[in-house]
Amino acid sequence: MPKKKKQEGVEVEAEVKTQKKGRGKSQVDETTKEPTQTKVLKKKREKLEPTGPRKYIMLIGDGMGDFMIKELGWKTPLEVAITPGLDFLASYGEVGSCQTIPHGMHPGSDVAIMGLLGYPPEEKYTGRGPIEAYARGIELKPEDVAYRCNLVTLRLEGDELIMEDYSAGHIDTESAIELIEAINRVAGTDKVEIVPGVSYRHILIWRGGSGGLQTYPPHDLIGKNVWFAFQAYDEEPYLKEFILKAIAVLEKHPINQQRKLENKPVANAIWPWGQGRAPDLEPFEEKWGLKGAVISAVDLIKGLGRLAKMTVIDVPGATGYIDTNYEGKVDYAISALETHDFVLIHVEAPDEASHEGNLELKIKAIDEFDRRVVRYLLERIVELTDNYRILACCDHLTPISIRTHSTKPVPFVIYDSKLHTKKKGDIKFCERVAYESPLYFPSGPELFSYFIERPLKSEEVAEHAGR
Ligand SMILES: [Zn+2]
Repeated sequence: MPKKKKQEGVEVEAEVKTQKKGRGKSQVDETTKEPTQTKVLKKKREKLEPTGPRKYIMLIGDGMGDFMIKELGWKTPLEVAITPGLDFLASYGEVGSCQTIPHGMHPGSDVAIMGLLGYPPEEKYTGRGPIEAYARGIELKPEDVAYRCNLVTLRLEGDELIMEDYSAGHIDTESAIELIEAINRVAGTDKVEIVPGVSYRHILIWRGGSGGLQTYPPHDLIGKNVWFAFQAYDEEPYLKEFILKAIAVLEKHPINQQRKLENKPVANAIWPWGQGRAPDLEPFEEKWGLKGAVISAVDLIKGLGRLAKMTVIDVPGATGYIDTNYEGKVDYAISALETHDFVLIHVEAPDEASHEGNLELKIKAIDEFDRRVVRYLLERIVELTDNYRILACCDHLTPISIRTHSTKPVPFVIYDSKLHTKKKGDIKFCERVAYESPLYFPSGPELFSYFIERPLKSEEVAEHAGR
């Protein structure tokens, strides 16, 4: 557990008392209408030119962005959430927008965050499978292909094959592992096997295999007739044979018999998708001259960190949901910054709430992100240095109305303790302000390069310009 040093500096005042009633009203000092911690910071800054080591902190509230919602008076969740921390960054710093999803690519967190770490996804992205494989510590040889492999529930209905459940009812990990091991015992070869993971999420490794066939994310096929997708596996008979053997094992497996008795969805098929070979990412430190660390509960982000040879930090109690250990992530980040120049803190909670279509939960997740990550970071970072740069953003929008990711540009804010010393006004950090700002980056790598004050390599600039 990272040590916590109490030092004079910034203290975040007590909770925002009027949270519910005063939605939109931030934690201010009545006389100056300014968040108290900023006053201390300002006094500090006005006095001294920052002298500490330069540190870069990227904060990603996954899926935080949204469309305007009638229920909220045509405001967005970000606009109505209580965010004095993000508003402080916006009131002193720079707000803008960024096209994190390259044209024609699917708006996945892995695509967006690969770009936000400075790696152009349109060149480097090879699929979700290999990233998740690295998150699990699976090393891939150049000729290997990794597939994300879900345990799913399929239903035959007349001549249709229906995707009943992309997660086999969020099957528990223990049962899932037993099923995966039974499949490997019967169908596994020196070429193909499944590496067990968590609940319905597993990794199929095909050594020397092919990654070219068309596969489909099962969560996009819920309730649909998926014969077309199932038949697409015919293109790779070796893989199809493995899938059919797996289905035979699952059909008569006692765990599924038991699930049937308990009226739980049976895990009666495997569904490999999102395949690819290991992306070849230049080590982060070599590429940017910065020692980088990643903090997230989500495999995709951890996998990206591992592939970029960054330090991947596991924080106890990080869940990927609303109950995650927000402060713990900040504490570990502060410790990491003692030996690193850059740290990414990723919070999944807003995205999970959005996929559930739960507006109240999304707003709460953003409140928590601001209070327990942004404001807490502002309180703690000054213990380490007075010379830092923060980029806060979301990786993609996950609008509540569609419950999935959108390719629209994302809002971001950059605050620099050295450069941004003058308040520009009472600015509310939200999509509207971001889209109205002239500051726009057509790609993640261009935003990242601007954030860490390091140019993109010439060949990358040419590529981006050619787009
Ligand atoms: Zn995401």
